[in-house]
Amino acid sequence: MPTHHVVLIPGDGIGPSIASSVQKIFSAAQIDIEWHEQVAGVAAIAKGKDVMPVETLEAIEYHKVALKGPCSTPVGEGFRSVNVALRKRLNLYAAVRPVKSLPGVSTRFEGVDIIIVRENTEGLYSGVENEVLPGVVMSMKVASEMACTRIAHWAFRFATRRRRKKITAMHKANIMKLTDGLFIRCAQQVHRSEYPNIDYDELIIDAGCMKIVQDPTRFDILLLENLYGDVMSDLCAGLVGGLGVVPGANFGDEAAVFEAVHGSAPDIVGKGIANPLALLMSGVMMLEYMAQEKNDGSLAQQAKRLRGAYEKCLVDGQKTKDLGGTLGTDAFTDAVIERLDG
Ligand code: NAD
Repeated sequence: MPTHHVVLIPGDGIGPSIASSVQKIFSAAQIDIEWHEQVAGVAAIAKGKDVMPVETLEAIEYHKVALKGPCSTPVGEGFRSVNVALRKRLNLYAAVRPVKSLPGVSTRFEGVDIIIVRENTEGLYSGVENEVLPGVVMSMKVASEMACTRIAHWAFRFATRRRRKKITAMHKANIMKLTDGLFIRCAQQVHRSEYPNIDYDELIIDAGCMKIVQDPTRFDILLLENLYGDVMSDLCAGLVGGLGVVPGANFGDEAAVFEAVHGSAPDIVGKGIANPLALLMSGVMMLEYMAQEKNDGSLAQQAKRLRGAYEKCLVDGQKTKDLGGTLGTDAFTDAVIERLDG
């Protein structure tokens, strides 16, 4: 079996501990991966490097796949988000977050199975902010026909491959007529001209939020611009048990970076209670992606085995505190490993 090469960015905060948990589980499952560890953000600065080191970007460009822990961004000051920088520099334009009810994690709703597709490069994440006058600042929201069409294509192609039935675009085009207006016009165009077989509808984002918390089971794929995608990801995480159970991936045409939706959780750093599951689930998504890219059935098998093990943990009540259990990070890691073979 060939060795697979993956860049690992542990991140900061709870990142290193959950990344080490995932490495331990992959190693126990004897998944043949060579990890190429790189740093970014606070961890890079601590090593005297640039906040977004060139070698980190080059390693991802070279190996084409990365698993990434969370990276903190100072609020209201300091350096710009390295997460955003990474997505932009590597042109990882499609963020995908599957939000699914899990066995053994009881929540208000059962049978939630939503996939969020978020445009990852534009919107209010342009990073262009100005002080127009003293006491008056502005932030520029950017939408281009190219990027809006590209993400719409990506979402419809994904829906087709995954045999999903419906895409709902959420927007605020009643107010942001140009930017959000362009976003939905591009989606309508791609739907009409290439994917009429997939159902497509639209909701104004505020009404969409209300409908999704009333009954999330009515939704299938959500197509969102950058900021709405960010907010909706955490909102939907709350519907299936919280940030500890929602994985994610950022796809471009040349590379893919897999990371949980949650951040560095500074409030629980060092307490040994961080849930590594969302990063493990992101690792499982990564194995499935690599299996498809490399046409390697054994990687798909490994992904299935890992999913079986963590689901069994949840059903057995072997859960971390955020999911109502009693286990810490290490004990949960061991519980997953114990269940690798049934
Ligand atoms: P957060 O996701 O880090 O934490 C929100 C809440 O969820 C906290 O109470 C935290 O303890 C809990 N939580 C998150 N992940 C958990 C886990 N795995 N196990 C148990 N509990 C968990 O959001 P925040 O506090 O708003 O952000 C903290 C930092 O993370 C900020 O600097 C932010 O910029 C950064 N961030 C990074 C990413 C990323 O790297 N992709 C994403 C979001 C936030």
